Amino acid sequence: MLEARGLMVFYENMLAINNVDLRVQEGQIVGVFGANSAGKSTLMYTLSGIILDKKRKEEMRGGERISVFGKLRYHGEEISQMKPHERAKRGIILCPERRRIFPESSVLENLKIGAYLASSGEAKETLDYVFSLFPALERLKDRQGGFLSGGEQQMLAIGRALMAQPKLLLLDEPLLGLSPQIQKVVIGAIKEIRDQKGITILVTEQYARPVLPIVDYAYILENGAAVLEGTGQQLLENPDVKAAYFGL
Ligand code: ATP
Repeated sequence: MLEARGLMVFYENMLAINNVDLRVQEGQIVGVFGANSAGKSTLMYTLSGIILDKKRKEEMRGGERISVFGKLRYHGEEISQMKPHERAKRGIILCPERRRIFPESSVLENLKIGAYLASSGEAKETLDYVFSLFPALERLKDRQGGFLSGGEQQMLAIGRALMAQPKLLLLDEPLLGLSPQIQKVVIGAIKEIRDQKGITILVTEQYARPVLPIVDYAYILENGAAVLEGTGQQLLENPDVKAAYFGL
């Protein structure tokens, strides 16, 4: 479904993504694990195309030079130069790190904003689905986004991304700052979204342990390079991975 070959991203002279090859097959949940500043968000920006917007903005204000190289194919189509909204129309939807919900808007408004790519029928159906996935959001539908807890905000961010009718959902550190209990809710929801809706998911996290049980395949990112890859089981059995990413 998605295939990256030789992806490289430079911020000025700093190499943030170093020659990454990555494959996501339809219907899979694929994990990308790495420490702080390993390049997880940069990778997500590159796959969603947001890096091109950042690059253009930086050029306009005479800031740092962002360079992107490599091939990116989605359903066989080369998309590395494609604008983010064109990728979104094709179903590549990013749920960014730190949620980025609209704090002044209500839960319901936030969800409706997400539905800009949906027909009214799809929007209604997906709204019902989001409320069945996260019943808390239905109870809170009139509350302002800014007054939600971190866990509720994450549910809202995922819900909003679902409203955009993803085929490939990019989840950037969805567990960040959540209690273990809420992490379980979010992980359960990620699995349900794939199992019930058939949506393919690429998820980044700093810690692999909570996510590994639901991934079909995963990559370990270190200093921008994919240094290891394998099934959840293969990574679990790898002593280097254990020490570095499972806190064993
Ligand atoms: P975190 O878990 O802390 O969010 P990450 O794995 O998502 O980290 P990135 O945010 O992709 O990592 O950052 C990768 C590297 O690129 C880091 O060294 C970071 O400092 C650098 N970087 C990210 N954005 C920029 C930018 N706009 N300008 C310059 N350097 C950047």
